[in-house]
Amino acid sequence: MSEVLVLIDHADGEVKKPTYELLTIAKRLGEPSAVFIGSGDHGAGVAEKVKKYGAEKVYVVDDAQIKGYLVAPKAEALQQLVEKTSPAAVLIPSTIEGKEVAGRLAIKIGSGLITDAVDVDGEGVTTQSVFAGSYTVTAKVTTGTPVITVKPNSATPEEAEGAAAVEEFAATVSESAKKAQIVASQPRKSSGRPELTEAAIVVAGGRGTGGDFEPVEKLADSLGAAVGASRAAVDSGWIAHSFQIGQTGKTVSPQLYVAAGISGAIQHRAGMQTSKTIVAVNKDEEAPIFELVDFGVVGDLKTVLPAAADKVTERKG
Ligand SMILES: Cc1cc2nc3c(=O)[nH]c(=O)nc-3n(C[C@H](O)[C@H](O)[C@H](O)COP(=O)(O)OP(=O)(O)OC[C@H]3O[C@@H](n4cnc5c(N)ncnc54)[C@H](O)[C@@H]3O)c2cc1C
Repeated sequence: MSEVLVLIDHADGEVKKPTYELLTIAKRLGEPSAVFIGSGDHGAGVAEKVKKYGAEKVYVVDDAQIKGYLVAPKAEALQQLVEKTSPAAVLIPSTIEGKEVAGRLAIKIGSGLITDAVDVDGEGVTTQSVFAGSYTVTAKVTTGTPVITVKPNSATPEEAEGAAAVEEFAATVSESAKKAQIVASQPRKSSGRPELTEAAIVVAGGRGTGGDFEPVEKLADSLGAAVGASRAAVDSGWIAHSFQIGQTGKTVSPQLYVAAGISGAIQHRAGMQTSKTIVAVNKDEEAPIFELVDFGVVGDLKTVLPAAADKVTERKG
């Protein structure tokens, strides 16, 4: 069975959930081999984690020489791994960085590239949601080794014991891949909530909040969810742009999406309509958001959200 390379999404060795989703998808296509590009010191710890999700091999590319050089060296390292292993496919998380690595890799190896897949079947046929979610497209790479980026929450991670045999891989990185370097970085202040694009649950607020996001945050925290927002809320200066969901904001695809005080404009839908279960709270029963919900509550978010949060907390206790 051919190997399927999965680029591990991590922060200083902390493996992120989309990696486990990709390993689960990789199993449909062949034998999952995880690729860790990071500090060699984290290699063993990372291998222990991906082992539980079926990684048979773990290629550890120590980034001591390439740390801070953005994406180009990662694409070169992956190119060399593709040449060494002739994999059935390369799966990469659909992050901004992941998509750039994937694009560069596809050019280097002369392969077709599919980005933002929301599903990949055992034949390598991908599903994408395009044109603001108004079309579902199935596609397949026909040239070279398929390079596919997959959106977070596209699969439920399935535990499966792999061998996770660690292999150090010394990539040769060209000088031209080292032309842009990060000179300083500052971590964002942590809100304690999950990252918006990766969260399994998102509670989003719109103009209907009137600028008071407390009910949205309260429900989000009771559910362990991320907070999101419509553009109207962002443009009003109530919340930072990094929270915006939609065509000109972030795309989310959580298991549960709660839209509170959001009318459901097409540009907002573009960023959330692939969510598995959609719940809306809106005081206007004619609001367009109700066309796409699984559950709708006609009511004032200022009373519905705190009541729901209290119930969730009560159930947990
Ligand atoms: C090029 C372009 C790109 C865009 N990109 C985006 C984007 O990325 N993301 C995005 O979101 N929008 C985007 N927009 C804007 C989009 O068209 C809408 O204007 C925006 O989504 C509306 O936000 P909203 O639903 O919060 O506000 P509104 O449309 O004003 O809706 C507010 C809703 O809250 C309800 N409400 C009011 N008070 C309460 C209450 N107390 N309790 C419950 N419900 C209440 C109202 O009934 C109403 O349905 C874009 C527009 C353009 C032209």
